[in-house]
Amino acid sequence: MQRDISTRILHADRLGGIEHGATHKPLHVATGYGYEKAADLVAVFQGERSGYVYGRQGNPTTAALEAKISLMEEAVGTVSFATGMAAICATMIALLRRGDHVVASKFLFGNTASWFNTLGQLGCSVTLVDATDAAEVEKALTPQTRMVFVETIANPRTQVADLAGIGKLCAARGIAYVVDNTLTTPALFQPKAVGASLVIHSLSKGICGHGNALGGSVSDTGLFDWDAYPNLLPAYRKGPPTAWGLLQIRKKGLRDTGGTLSAEHGHRIATGAETLSLRIERACSNALAVARWLDAQPLVAKVHYPGLPSHSQHERAGGLFHGFGALLSFEMADGLDPSALLDALELVIKSSHLGDNRTLALPAALTIFWEMGEEQRQSMDIAESLVRVSVGIEATDDLLADFEQAFAKFQ
Ligand SMILES: *Cc1c(COP(=O)(O)O)cnc(C)c1O
Repeated sequence: MQRDISTRILHADRLGGIEHGATHKPLHVATGYGYEKAADLVAVFQGERSGYVYGRQGNPTTAALEAKISLMEEAVGTVSFATGMAAICATMIALLRRGDHVVASKFLFGNTASWFNTLGQLGCSVTLVDATDAAEVEKALTPQTRMVFVETIANPRTQVADLAGIGKLCAARGIAYVVDNTLTTPALFQPKAVGASLVIHSLSKGICGHGNALGGSVSDTGLFDWDAYPNLLPAYRKGPPTAWGLLQIRKKGLRDTGGTLSAEHGHRIATGAETLSLRIERACSNALAVARWLDAQPLVAKVHYPGLPSHSQHERAGGLFHGFGALLSFEMADGLDPSALLDALELVIKSSHLGDNRTLALPAALTIFWEMGEEQRQSMDIAESLVRVSVGIEATDDLLADFEQAFAKFQ
Protein backbone atom coordinates (compact mmCIF):
# COMPACT_ATOMS: atom_id res chain seq x y z
CA MET A 1 0.00 0.00 0.00
CA GLN A 2 1.26 3.48 -0.89
CA ARG A 3 1.52 5.53 2.31
CA ASP A 4 -0.23 8.88 2.51
CA ILE A 5 1.79 11.80 1.23
CA SER A 6 1.82 13.47 4.68
CA THR A 7 3.53 10.36 6.10
CA ARG A 8 5.99 10.15 3.24
CA ILE A 9 7.03 13.80 3.61
CA LEU A 10 7.76 13.28 7.32
CA HIS A 11 10.05 10.33 6.62
CA ALA A 12 11.52 11.48 3.30
CA ASP A 13 14.96 12.61 4.54
CA ARG A 14 15.56 9.68 6.85
CA LEU A 15 14.87 7.08 4.18
CA GLY A 16 17.74 8.51 2.14
CA GLY A 17 20.17 7.79 5.00
CA ILE A 18 21.65 10.65 7.02
CA GLU A 19 24.89 10.88 9.05
CA HIS A 20 24.58 9.60 12.65
CA GLY A 21 21.01 8.45 12.01
CA ALA A 22 19.77 12.03 12.25
CA THR A 23 16.04 12.23 11.62
CA HIS A 24 16.28 15.09 9.21
CA LYS A 25 18.79 16.57 6.85
CA PRO A 26 21.28 18.91 8.57
CA LEU A 27 22.25 22.36 7.36
CA HIS A 28 25.05 22.17 4.82
CA VAL A 29 26.71 25.56 4.80
CA ALA A 30 29.77 24.93 2.59
CA THR A 31 30.14 27.15 -0.47
CA GLY A 32 32.49 24.78 -2.30
CA TYR A 33 32.92 21.02 -2.59
CA GLY A 34 36.27 19.23 -2.86
CA TYR A 35 37.11 16.02 -4.72
CA GLU A 36 39.91 13.53 -4.24
CA LYS A 37 40.86 13.49 -7.90
CA ALA A 38 40.66 16.21 -10.53
CA ALA A 39 38.97 13.65 -12.78
CA ASP A 40 36.08 13.45 -10.32
CA LEU A 41 35.60 17.21 -10.35
CA VAL A 42 35.77 17.18 -14.14
CA ALA A 43 33.17 14.41 -14.30
CA VAL A 44 30.78 16.41 -12.14
CA PHE A 45 31.31 19.54 -14.26
CA GLN A 46 30.73 17.59 -17.43
CA GLY A 47 27.53 16.03 -16.11
CA GLU A 48 29.01 12.51 -16.19
CA ARG A 49 28.35 12.00 -12.47
CA SER A 50 26.23 13.79 -9.92
CA GLY A 51 27.79 15.94 -7.23
CA TYR A 52 28.01 19.45 -5.87
CA VAL A 53 30.46 22.00 -7.18
CA TYR A 54 29.53 25.44 -5.93
CA GLY A 55 26.73 26.55 -3.60
CA ARG A 56 25.02 28.81 -6.12
CA GLN A 57 23.85 25.69 -7.94
CA GLY A 58 22.50 24.02 -4.83
CA ASN A 59 23.69 22.00 -1.83
CA PRO A 60 22.58 18.82 0.00
CA THR A 61 20.15 20.72 2.25
CA THR A 62 18.30 22.44 -0.59
CA ALA A 63 18.48 19.19 -2.58
CA ALA A 64 16.62 17.43 0.26
CA LEU A 65 13.92 20.11 0.10
CA GLU A 66 13.74 19.74 -3.69
CA ALA A 67 13.23 15.98 -3.26
CA LYS A 68 10.44 16.67 -0.78
CA ILE A 69 8.67 19.03 -3.18
CA SER A 70 9.04 16.50 -5.99
CA LEU A 71 7.39 13.99 -3.69
CA MET A 72 4.54 16.38 -2.92
CA GLU A 73 3.93 17.16 -6.59
CA GLU A 74 4.69 13.65 -7.86
CA ALA A 75 7.25 15.40 -10.06
CA VAL A 76 10.35 14.01 -11.78
CA GLY A 77 12.47 16.83 -10.35
CA THR A 78 12.51 20.24 -8.70
CA VAL A 79 14.83 23.26 -8.69
CA SER A 80 14.65 25.58 -5.69
CA PHE A 81 15.17 29.36 -5.70
CA ALA A 82 15.61 32.24 -3.27
CA THR A 83 11.99 33.37 -3.74
CA GLY A 84 8.91 32.52 -5.75
CA MET A 85 9.60 35.47 -8.05
CA ALA A 86 13.13 34.17 -8.68
CA ALA A 87 11.60 30.81 -9.68
CA ILE A 88 9.12 32.45 -12.07
CA CYS A 89 11.64 34.82 -13.71
CA ALA A 90 14.42 32.23 -14.01
CA THR A 91 12.04 29.67 -15.55
CA MET A 92 11.00 32.11 -18.24
CA ILE A 93 14.50 33.47 -18.85
CA ALA A 94 15.70 29.89 -19.30
CA LEU A 95 12.88 28.73 -21.58
CA LEU A 96 11.76 31.73 -23.66
CA ARG A 97 13.41 33.52 -26.57
CA ARG A 98 12.85 36.85 -28.31
CA GLY A 99 9.72 36.60 -30.45
CA ASP A 100 8.06 33.91 -28.31
CA HIS A 101 4.52 34.43 -27.14
CA VAL A 102 3.08 33.67 -23.70
CA VAL A 103 -0.58 33.52 -22.74
CA ALA A 104 -1.19 34.23 -19.07
CA SER A 105 -4.16 34.70 -16.81
CA LYS A 106 -5.00 38.35 -16.27
CA PHE A 107 -5.77 37.50 -12.65
CA LEU A 108 -2.26 37.29 -11.26
CA PHE A 109 -0.16 37.94 -8.20
CA GLY A 110 0.86 41.60 -8.63
CA ASN A 111 4.61 41.06 -8.95
CA THR A 112 4.08 38.31 -11.53
CA ALA A 113 1.94 40.77 -13.52
CA SER A 114 4.77 43.30 -13.21
CA TRP A 115 7.29 40.68 -14.44
CA PHE A 116 5.14 40.01 -17.51
CA ASN A 117 5.45 43.74 -18.36
CA THR A 118 9.22 43.36 -18.22
CA LEU A 119 9.11 40.18 -20.31
CA GLY A 120 7.22 42.18 -22.95
CA GLN A 121 10.01 44.75 -22.96
CA LEU A 122 12.59 41.99 -23.41
CA GLY A 123 11.10 40.97 -26.75
CA CYS A 124 8.55 38.32 -25.84
CA SER A 125 4.89 39.12 -26.26
CA VAL A 126 2.40 38.39 -23.52
CA THR A 127 -1.38 38.20 -23.85
CA LEU A 128 -3.38 38.37 -20.62
CA VAL A 129 -6.77 36.65 -20.76
CA ASP A 130 -9.59 35.60 -18.48
CA ALA A 131 -8.25 32.13 -17.74
CA THR A 132 -11.40 31.02 -15.92
CA ASP A 133 -12.48 30.09 -19.48
CA ALA A 134 -10.21 27.85 -21.58
CA ALA A 135 -11.89 29.21 -24.74
CA GLU A 136 -10.36 32.64 -23.96
CA VAL A 137 -6.93 31.03 -23.71
CA GLU A 138 -7.50 29.19 -26.99
CA LYS A 139 -8.46 32.41 -28.80
CA ALA A 140 -5.19 34.02 -27.72
CA LEU A 141 -2.89 31.22 -28.95
CA THR A 142 -0.62 31.93 -31.93
CA PRO A 143 1.94 29.75 -33.72
CA GLN A 144 4.58 31.48 -31.54
CA THR A 145 2.90 30.59 -28.23
CA ARG A 146 5.39 28.58 -26.18
CA MET A 147 3.88 28.80 -22.74
CA VAL A 148 0.59 29.25 -20.89
CA PHE A 149 0.88 30.52 -17.30
CA VAL A 150 -1.91 30.44 -14.71
CA GLU A 151 -2.42 30.47 -10.95
CA THR A 152 -4.71 27.83 -9.43
CA ILE A 153 -6.66 30.24 -7.21
CA ALA A 154 -5.90 33.83 -8.13
CA ASN A 155 -4.70 36.23 -5.49
CA PRO A 156 -6.60 38.32 -4.28
CA ARG A 157 -9.97 37.77 -5.99
CA THR A 158 -9.86 33.96 -5.80
CA GLN A 159 -10.87 33.26 -9.41
CA VAL A 160 -10.23 29.60 -10.21
CA ALA A 161 -8.68 29.06 -13.64
CA ASP A 162 -10.15 26.48 -16.01
CA LEU A 163 -7.22 24.30 -15.07
CA ALA A 164 -8.40 21.08 -16.72
CA GLY A 165 -9.61 22.77 -19.93
CA ILE A 166 -6.34 24.66 -20.37
CA GLY A 167 -4.40 21.46 -19.67
CA LYS A 168 -6.15 19.68 -22.54
CA LEU A 169 -5.53 22.62 -24.85
CA CYS A 170 -1.81 22.77 -24.05
CA ALA A 171 -1.41 19.00 -24.43
CA ALA A 172 -3.08 19.06 -27.86
CA ARG A 173 -0.86 21.93 -29.08
CA GLY A 174 2.41 20.91 -27.41
CA ILE A 175 2.58 24.13 -25.38
CA ALA A 176 4.34 24.23 -22.01
CA TYR A 177 1.70 24.60 -19.29
CA VAL A 178 3.03 26.36 -16.20
CA VAL A 179 0.84 26.39 -13.09
CA ASP A 180 1.56 28.49 -9.99
CA ASN A 181 0.24 26.23 -7.21
CA THR A 182 1.11 28.60 -4.33
CA LEU A 183 -2.45 29.31 -3.19
CA THR A 184 -3.58 25.69 -3.19
CA THR A 185 -0.32 23.96 -2.17
CA PRO A 186 0.13 20.25 -2.95
CA ALA A 187 -2.01 19.46 0.12
CA LEU A 188 -5.07 20.65 -1.82
CA PHE A 189 -4.10 20.12 -5.44
CA GLN A 190 -1.46 18.61 -7.72
CA PRO A 191 -1.40 20.43 -11.07
CA LYS A 192 -0.03 17.24 -12.64
CA ALA A 193 -3.60 15.94 -12.46
CA VAL A 194 -4.67 18.51 -15.08
CA GLY A 195 -1.64 18.06 -17.34
CA ALA A 196 0.67 20.81 -16.05
CA SER A 197 4.21 20.68 -17.45
CA LEU A 198 5.83 22.77 -14.72
CA VAL A 199 4.57 23.60 -11.24
CA ILE A 200 5.72 26.81 -9.55
CA HIS A 201 5.65 27.53 -5.82
CA SER A 202 6.37 30.47 -3.65
CA LEU A 203 7.70 28.38 -0.77
CA SER A 204 7.57 31.54 1.37
CA LYS A 205 3.81 31.02 1.73
CA GLY A 206 1.84 27.95 2.81
CA ILE A 207 4.55 25.31 2.36
CA CYS A 208 6.83 27.11 4.84
CA GLY A 209 3.82 28.44 6.74
CA HIS A 210 5.71 30.01 9.61
CA GLY A 211 6.56 33.28 7.89
CA ASN A 212 10.25 32.86 8.66
CA ALA A 213 11.83 31.99 5.31
CA LEU A 214 11.70 32.99 1.65
CA GLY A 215 11.91 30.45 -1.14
CA GLY A 216 10.56 29.35 -4.49
CA SER A 217 10.56 26.27 -6.67
CA VAL A 218 9.79 24.87 -10.07
CA SER A 219 8.97 21.18 -10.52
CA ASP A 220 8.69 19.19 -13.73
CA THR A 221 5.75 16.79 -13.78
CA GLY A 222 7.38 14.68 -16.51
CA LEU A 223 4.39 15.15 -18.82
CA PHE A 224 5.90 17.60 -21.30
CA ASP A 225 7.74 16.52 -24.43
CA TRP A 226 10.96 18.55 -24.18
CA ASP A 227 12.33 16.86 -27.27
CA ALA A 228 9.87 18.89 -29.33
CA TYR A 229 10.58 22.18 -27.52
CA PRO A 230 12.61 24.45 -29.81
CA ASN A 231 14.45 26.53 -27.19
CA LEU A 232 16.49 23.79 -25.53
CA LEU A 233 20.24 24.00 -26.09
CA PRO A 234 22.08 20.88 -27.34
CA ALA A 235 24.17 20.82 -24.14
CA TYR A 236 21.05 20.12 -22.07
CA ARG A 237 19.58 17.44 -24.32
CA LYS A 238 21.32 14.73 -22.29
CA GLY A 239 19.88 11.79 -20.41
CA PRO A 240 16.13 11.13 -20.28
CA PRO A 241 14.16 13.87 -22.15
CA THR A 242 11.88 14.41 -19.13
CA ALA A 243 14.92 15.96 -17.35
CA TRP A 244 15.97 18.35 -20.14
CA GLY A 245 13.72 21.29 -19.34
CA LEU A 246 14.68 21.33 -15.67
CA LEU A 247 18.37 20.96 -16.53
CA GLN A 248 18.20 24.09 -18.66
CA ILE A 249 16.29 25.87 -15.86
CA ARG A 250 18.98 24.84 -13.36
CA LYS A 251 21.83 25.99 -15.61
CA LYS A 252 20.43 29.01 -17.46
CA GLY A 253 17.93 29.98 -14.79
CA LEU A 254 19.41 29.21 -11.37
CA ARG A 255 23.15 29.13 -12.13
CA ASP A 256 23.30 32.17 -14.43
CA THR A 257 20.86 34.44 -12.61
CA GLY A 258 22.02 33.37 -9.14
CA GLY A 259 18.70 33.44 -7.31
CA THR A 260 19.79 30.62 -5.01
CA LEU A 261 17.85 29.46 -1.95
CA SER A 262 20.03 29.61 1.14
CA ALA A 263 20.53 26.36 3.02
CA GLU A 264 19.18 27.90 6.20
CA HIS A 265 15.94 29.01 4.59
CA GLY A 266 15.69 25.69 2.76
CA HIS A 267 15.92 23.92 6.09
CA ARG A 268 13.20 26.07 7.66
CA ILE A 269 10.92 25.50 4.68
CA ALA A 270 11.51 21.74 4.85
CA THR A 271 10.57 21.79 8.54
CA GLY A 272 7.41 23.78 7.78
CA ALA A 273 6.48 21.34 5.03
CA GLU A 274 6.29 18.53 7.60
CA THR A 275 3.05 19.97 9.00
CA LEU A 276 1.58 21.29 5.76
CA SER A 277 -1.46 19.03 5.57
CA LEU A 278 -2.44 19.65 9.21
CA ARG A 279 -2.03 23.41 8.91
CA ILE A 280 -3.89 23.64 5.61
CA GLU A 281 -6.81 21.65 6.98
CA ARG A 282 -7.25 24.11 9.88
CA ALA A 283 -6.64 27.19 7.71
CA CYS A 284 -9.26 26.05 5.17
CA SER A 285 -11.91 25.38 7.81
CA ASN A 286 -11.14 28.74 9.44
CA ALA A 287 -11.36 30.51 6.07
CA LEU A 288 -14.74 28.96 5.35
CA ALA A 289 -16.04 30.03 8.76
CA VAL A 290 -14.78 33.61 8.29
CA ALA A 291 -16.12 33.78 4.72
CA ARG A 292 -19.58 32.63 5.84
CA TRP A 293 -19.59 35.08 8.73
CA LEU A 294 -18.54 38.01 6.52
CA ASP A 295 -21.10 37.02 3.89
CA ALA A 296 -23.88 37.68 6.42
CA GLN A 297 -22.69 41.21 7.29
CA PRO A 298 -24.63 44.19 5.91
CA LEU A 299 -21.42 46.26 5.92
CA VAL A 300 -19.83 43.82 3.47
CA ALA A 301 -20.85 44.19 -0.19
CA LYS A 302 -19.29 40.98 -1.49
CA VAL A 303 -17.15 38.08 -0.26
CA HIS A 304 -14.84 36.24 -2.64
CA TYR A 305 -14.06 32.72 -1.46
CA PRO A 306 -14.27 29.57 -3.61
CA GLY A 307 -15.91 27.70 -0.71
CA LEU A 308 -19.05 29.85 -0.88
CA PRO A 309 -21.78 28.55 -3.22
CA SER A 310 -22.11 32.12 -4.60
CA HIS A 311 -18.54 31.98 -5.99
CA SER A 312 -18.54 31.68 -9.81
CA GLN A 313 -16.15 28.71 -9.77
CA HIS A 314 -17.41 27.05 -6.58
CA GLU A 315 -18.19 23.75 -8.28
CA ARG A 316 -14.97 23.69 -10.27
CA ALA A 317 -12.96 24.30 -7.09
CA GLY A 318 -14.89 21.57 -5.26
CA GLY A 319 -14.19 19.12 -8.07
CA LEU A 320 -10.46 19.89 -8.36
CA PHE A 321 -9.26 20.74 -4.85
CA HIS A 322 -9.35 18.93 -1.50
CA GLY A 323 -10.31 22.23 0.16
CA PHE A 324 -11.02 25.82 -0.84
CA GLY A 325 -7.82 27.44 0.39
CA ALA A 326 -6.85 29.90 3.11
CA LEU A 327 -7.25 33.12 1.14
CA LEU A 328 -10.40 35.20 0.87
CA SER A 329 -11.21 38.78 0.03
CA PHE A 330 -14.19 41.03 0.54
CA GLU A 331 -15.48 44.40 -0.61
CA MET A 332 -16.82 46.90 1.90
CA ALA A 333 -20.32 48.31 1.44
CA ASP A 334 -20.43 51.73 -0.24
CA GLY A 335 -18.22 54.39 1.20
CA LEU A 336 -16.76 52.36 4.04
CA ASP A 337 -13.05 52.70 4.56
CA PRO A 338 -11.27 49.30 4.53
CA SER A 339 -8.35 50.76 6.49
CA ALA A 340 -10.65 51.81 9.36
CA LEU A 341 -11.98 48.28 9.59
CA LEU A 342 -8.49 46.82 9.58
CA ASP A 343 -7.46 49.22 12.34
CA ALA A 344 -10.32 47.91 14.46
CA LEU A 345 -9.05 44.32 14.26
CA GLU A 346 -7.01 43.36 17.31
CA LEU A 347 -5.83 39.83 16.55
CA VAL A 348 -5.55 39.93 12.76
CA ILE A 349 -2.23 41.45 11.67
CA LYS A 350 -2.09 44.14 8.98
CA SER A 351 0.52 42.56 6.74
CA SER A 352 1.18 41.86 3.07
CA HIS A 353 2.30 38.27 3.48
CA LEU A 354 0.02 35.27 2.95
CA GLY A 355 -0.05 31.56 3.76
CA ASP A 356 1.15 32.31 7.30
CA ASN A 357 0.05 30.49 10.45
CA ARG A 358 -1.24 33.85 11.70
CA THR A 359 -4.20 35.58 10.07
CA LEU A 360 -3.09 38.59 8.03
CA ALA A 361 -5.11 41.23 6.19
CA LEU A 362 -4.52 44.29 4.04
CA PRO A 363 -6.36 46.82 1.86
CA ALA A 364 -5.35 45.28 -1.50
CA ALA A 365 -5.92 48.23 -3.89
CA LEU A 366 -4.01 50.64 -1.65
CA THR A 367 -1.01 48.39 -1.12
CA ILE A 368 0.06 45.39 -3.23
CA PHE A 369 -1.97 46.51 -6.28
CA TRP A 370 -1.30 50.25 -5.88
CA GLU A 371 1.63 50.60 -8.28
CA MET A 372 -0.28 49.26 -11.32
CA GLY A 373 -2.92 52.00 -11.17
CA GLU A 374 -6.72 52.00 -11.12
CA GLU A 375 -7.21 51.01 -14.76
CA GLN A 376 -5.32 47.73 -14.44
CA ARG A 377 -6.96 47.09 -11.07
CA GLN A 378 -10.33 47.40 -12.77
CA SER A 379 -9.31 44.97 -15.50
CA MET A 380 -8.29 42.53 -12.75
CA ASP A 381 -11.62 43.05 -10.94
CA ILE A 382 -9.96 44.52 -7.86
CA ALA A 383 -12.36 46.89 -6.11
CA GLU A 384 -10.85 49.94 -4.41
CA SER A 385 -12.31 48.80 -1.07
CA LEU A 386 -11.09 45.21 -1.37
CA VAL A 387 -9.70 43.66 1.80
CA ARG A 388 -7.56 40.55 1.40
CA VAL A 389 -7.44 38.11 4.29
CA SER A 390 -4.94 35.28 4.53
CA VAL A 391 -6.50 33.05 7.16
CA GLY A 392 -4.24 31.34 9.68
CA ILE A 393 -4.58 28.47 12.10
CA GLU A 394 -5.85 30.28 15.21
CA ALA A 395 -8.84 28.81 17.07
CA THR A 396 -11.90 29.53 14.91
CA ASP A 397 -13.87 31.22 17.71
CA ASP A 398 -11.05 33.65 18.48
CA LEU A 399 -10.84 34.65 14.85
CA LEU A 400 -14.59 35.16 14.48
CA ALA A 401 -14.66 37.11 17.76
CA ASP A 402 -12.03 39.50 16.40
CA PHE A 403 -14.07 40.24 13.26
CA GLU A 404 -17.22 40.57 15.39
CA GLN A 405 -15.71 43.19 17.69
CA ALA A 406 -14.18 45.07 14.75
CA PHE A 407 -17.45 45.26 12.81
CA ALA A 408 -19.34 46.18 16.00
CA LYS A 409 -17.32 49.40 16.16
CA PHE A 410 -18.94 50.44 12.85
CA GLN A 411 -22.56 49.92 13.89
C1 LIG B 1 3.93 35.34 -3.15
C2 LIG B 1 3.60 34.76 -4.46
C3 LIG B 1 4.58 34.68 -5.46
C4 LIG B 1 5.97 35.21 -5.27
O1 LIG B 1 6.64 34.55 -4.27
P1 LIG B 1 7.81 35.23 -3.36
O2 LIG B 1 8.34 34.08 -2.60
O3 LIG B 1 7.17 36.27 -2.52
O4 LIG B 1 8.77 35.82 -4.34
C5 LIG B 1 4.22 34.10 -6.66
N1 LIG B 1 2.97 33.65 -6.89
C6 LIG B 1 2.01 33.73 -5.95
C7 LIG B 1 0.65 33.21 -6.26
C8 LIG B 1 2.28 34.29 -4.71
O5 LIG B 1 1.32 34.39 -3.78
